[in-house]
Amino acid sequence: MPTYWSKTLIPTLREAPADATVPSHRLMLRAGMIRQLGAGHYSYLPLGLRALQKVMAVVRREMDAAGAVEVFMPTLQPIELWEQTGRRADYGDNLFVLTDRHGREVALGPTHEEVTTDLVKNFVDSYKQLPLTVYQIQTKFRDEYRPRFGVLRSREFQMKDAYSFDIDVEGLDKSYQAMYDAYCRIFESCGVPYEIVEAESGPIGGSASHEFMVPSPTGEDTILKSDKGNYAANVEKCETGDRPTHPAFAPFSRAPKGSAPASHGGAKARSDEASASMDPTGDLEKVHTPHCATIEDVCDFFKKKVGSKLKPQSMLKSMLYVATRDSDASDPTEAKDPWYVLAIVRGDHEVNLAKLRDQMDKAFGEDAQLQPAPEQLARDDKWALGFIGPHAAPTRDDTYLLVDPDAAQGGFWVAGANEADHHVKHFNWQRDVLDSISDDAKQRLIVADIRNAVAGDPSPKGDGGVLEETKGIEVGHVFKLGCKYTDALDLKVLDDSNERRSVIMGCYGIGTNRILAGAIERPEGNDDNGIIWPAAIAPYQVIITPIKFADQVKDAACDLARDLEAQGIDVLIDDREERPGVKFKDADLIGIPVRVVVGDKGLKDGNVEIKPRSASDAEMVSVDQAATRIAELLKTL
Ligand code: ATP
Ligand code: MG
Repeated sequence: MPTYWSKTLIPTLREAPADATVPSHRLMLRAGMIRQLGAGHYSYLPLGLRALQKVMAVVRREMDAAGAVEVFMPTLQPIELWEQTGRRADYGDNLFVLTDRHGREVALGPTHEEVTTDLVKNFVDSYKQLPLTVYQIQTKFRDEYRPRFGVLRSREFQMKDAYSFDIDVEGLDKSYQAMYDAYCRIFESCGVPYEIVEAESGPIGGSASHEFMVPSPTGEDTILKSDKGNYAANVEKCETGDRPTHPAFAPFSRAPKGSAPASHGGAKARSDEASASMDPTGDLEKVHTPHCATIEDVCDFFKKKVGSKLKPQSMLKSMLYVATRDSDASDPTEAKDPWYVLAIVRGDHEVNLAKLRDQMDKAFGEDAQLQPAPEQLARDDKWALGFIGPHAAPTRDDTYLLVDPDAAQGGFWVAGANEADHHVKHFNWQRDVLDSISDDAKQRLIVADIRNAVAGDPSPKGDGGVLEETKGIEVGHVFKLGCKYTDALDLKVLDDSNERRSVIMGCYGIGTNRILAGAIERPEGNDDNGIIWPAAIAPYQVIITPIKFADQVKDAACDLARDLEAQGIDVLIDDREERPGVKFKDADLIGIPVRVVVGDKGLKDGNVEIKPRSASDAEMVSVDQAATRIAELLKTL
């Protein structure tokens, strides 16, 4: 049965609210697909729901084909499960927690690793029952700090989440590959372009992971790709090739793994790189910089008050972290053995916490935990927060100094003075750190890649490739989890020699709502007039726009709709008593792939007008041939 516009609910809007800045948000509102109920939660109206259901159908088909089995788990999750895996703390404020009438706390599921592990634990006790992959399509809740961009980042959203269980790593590798391949087919079937990038595993924990990204300038994720086309990673994960330090740092350098010597000097060199020698550029000079705790503040201050131009890349950014091995203390202030890690990067760079943790693991073993130093703890321990300089570290025996290669250079530097409201000019590594440092403190100095990669960095492949930066929308994510959850929740099975073994997990998520938004955000997914759907997930494949829905026009429109529906093509008939111009505008806005205009004029010659939404020209096709021609066109859209 075709749908009649007048009988459904498609409240198109001329304008979108001002806070809708990205195309998908604007157009989904204007096309009457969604309506915001509160910050980050949306109702799906008929058009939105139809498109979403099509995405779900593709996801189900490919999950089933890959051997995953569908389940449906509750949204309400006992908080104890989250405490047992330590994720209540890791998720922090993003976890919605509510208290029931008996005073028990429950979480609204942001993801289901704990619940799935607990479920499987009840029914699986032998390796013979593995491998097993379960999935569901379900509403997730995350108290996102800044819900925005419509359904792209909402607090209540739909996710397909799958979890694999295997007895050994080879099994996990196979399960992971099956999901990875299914994801490729899902995005291809949905008509959404994607790139696969290496990713960090984040609070989910684990050892290997890939993200599926829809390339889009409006994406929130930064992707770095080698210009040689053989490496892509998100910024949290992206490694860089070897970036040379000043030779004075050679004894402290840790070259990136597997890297070959770089053919050039790393990220955009500093403008004064000519002075790469370690000779001091002047006496260490204290400058009063009141309230200038950020790099931008200091540069502004130099311009306005000191009268000299200071670029962020001539500053050393000092970030303070606290490390502990005391896994019982969730608060480092209460930990038994905290020590500090002072991370130094160039002022225009950002510290990468995962890389820093990686260096910590190498230095202290994997049980060490690292986090930004809480303000009170740092102040109590006499750190001049906001005004720390690298030369504070050698004077303390509780501090490791980690320096990024681009910061481990000679030349002119401005750094914190280790005194509130002060910075120093002419900071010199040799004079102010290396010459005065004790042998003991030398053991605590490490030079290694600890910053986010940026465009222009050497590719970690060490093949002369250079990294380029683009933006993307994360639509899917696959992780090799390992035993984090099965160990925490004690899911073990008997192996073939009757030993109890930890089960190895993988987890795999797709944001179904984000696929819709991603389809609109792709370059060919919208134009000035509205949405341009890929046929596979369009709310309807065909819209029939009768010039006036009466008499022979009405009959021809309904006959054609019936023929199309008989072929499994879904049709929306715009039967409203509106001017043709209004109907054409709305058809463009909602983006149905093929529009058929039926009017008295065309019918006089036995023709209707067919136009793909993505084409600029229409064609006249005889009424008898119309259904065949439309079916043909749809295969290409
Ligand atoms: P992000 O980095 O964008 O916050 P995430 O890495 O936390 O996402 P995952 O835990 O990997 O997300 O969840 C799996 C998938 O769920 C993501 O790939 C994404 O498509 C979707 N998703 C996650 N958070 C949201 C959200 N707030 N709104 C809509 N979809 C989301
Ligand atoms: Mg993710």
